[in-house]
Amino acid sequence: MYKIRHFLNPMLRLGNGTYSYAIPTIGTLLVLLLLEFAIVNYLNSAPVVASLIIAISVILVVYFAFRDGIRGGVIATGIIIGYYIYIIFISGRVEALQARSSIQSTFFLGLLYLVIGSIIGWLKKSIDLLIIKEKIATSLADGERRRLKSVIEQMPVAIRIANIREKRVEGNEKLSELLKRKMNGDFDKEIKYMSEHEYKNGNNLEKKELVIFRALKSKKKIVSEEVEFIRDDRKKLFLRISASPVFDRRGKVISIVSVLDDVTGEKELQTRKDNFINMASHELKTPITTLKLYLDILYKRAKKLDNKSMTDPIENLRIQVERLQQLATDLLDISRIQTGKLRITKQKFLLNELIGEVCWLFQETKPDKKISIVNSNPIEIEGDRFRLYQVLTNLLTNAVKYSEKDKKIIIKSKQSDGHVQVSVKDHGIGLDPSEKHKIFNLLYQVKDAGEKTFPGLGMGLYISREIVRMHKGRIWVDSEKGKGSTFHFTLPTN
Ligand code: ADP
Repeated sequence: MYKIRHFLNPMLRLGNGTYSYAIPTIGTLLVLLLLEFAIVNYLNSAPVVASLIIAISVILVVYFAFRDGIRGGVIATGIIIGYYIYIIFISGRVEALQARSSIQSTFFLGLLYLVIGSIIGWLKKSIDLLIIKEKIATSLADGERRRLKSVIEQMPVAIRIANIREKRVEGNEKLSELLKRKMNGDFDKEIKYMSEHEYKNGNNLEKKELVIFRALKSKKKIVSEEVEFIRDDRKKLFLRISASPVFDRRGKVISIVSVLDDVTGEKELQTRKDNFINMASHELKTPITTLKLYLDILYKRAKKLDNKSMTDPIENLRIQVERLQQLATDLLDISRIQTGKLRITKQKFLLNELIGEVCWLFQETKPDKKISIVNSNPIEIEGDRFRLYQVLTNLLTNAVKYSEKDKKIIIKSKQSDGHVQVSVKDHGIGLDPSEKHKIFNLLYQVKDAGEKTFPGLGMGLYISREIVRMHKGRIWVDSEKGKGSTFHFTLPTN
């Protein structure tokens, strides 16, 4: 039944793309034969016959042009014209078709049928072509989608795709495994679920704070953002999420592809390490302080006895214990920075006084070093005096450490628009341009040409940078290899 309908109904054949010679020929002949049979046997009114012939002719031309294109229309027109000529000359029914029986009107009718057949046939072919193109495009896109889906399924990372047009969210197997749930599908429901389960620093994320939503709004990629995720089974995960918008040809976002990396293990290890360093440095501080205290007492007694064989080793011991104390303090600070526990307590004070104090202390312990202060006008700032003391001490210690004994060190301070800039200049070993930014990273130390490093662990500049950042300032270095370095930092004054 479907086949017959498909065969007869030209609408069902749209997009089929096959055009027949035989069907219009046989079909037109068959219909005209039946018509002729009806005329001969049942109809004798000339106007009825004439109108019937014209009506059926038009129907045949339109039908076959719509079924088999221009070809169908032309074949039907040809046979109909043949039939008209047969009626005029052979069948002897000339009188019956008086009005239209002349060759002339047949010719015009034929021309009209040809035009109708051609237009409809051309339309039919154009529609077919459009449908075929659409089918090809859809099947290509379908194939592409299936290929992509299988690639995503096999990826070893969790992937979440939010289809903005279709308002759907889908994820691969890895994502379901990670979050212990099947994707819901509906965009709004998924967004609601995410905002109920995603946290940052213990705070529930609002819809507009979600990585996926921010990538959608900003139309920009968001890279490696860490969020906490509480699963339905109440297990807490740490996820590193990156989300990228995908655009159509007109620049509209059609989807957001997110990659979710489970960093829970890494985070737990980091927390355990931080806790350990924190605890160890705390535990170390007390015995070191006591040790230093006893060494001081011992030193004073030895000095009173004027016993050089005792004062010299005690002095050496004191230097080593001081280094140990510095190490424990630095470790503790790093652990505080990394866990976000380093706090600054602001107070108003004069920066030049602080600079003077640091220099005086340095000069006391290292009298052979030439440290000069330039432009130190009274500049009042609001900051953590103890922490800024630490920054200045670190920069001066480095300036001393990385330059020869007799080389001068200059500390400069100047005030300009809304901030004060402090610079510590030395004439020491200097730095390669490629190292200028790296030296502020944690545990980074420059190796000189002979792979030799100065004693130290690469913690001081990292701590200094964090302290300056917490004051909303900036720290950087200008340096030339072999000629010396100038470390600058700025602090806001208002
Ligand atoms: P460290 O304890 O190793 O000195 P820092 O964080 O203070 O740690 O410094 C990091 C690195 O930067 C040092 O190892 C050194 O290579 C380089 N550096 C720091 N200050 C200077 C300086 N004044 N001149 C040359 N190099 C320096």
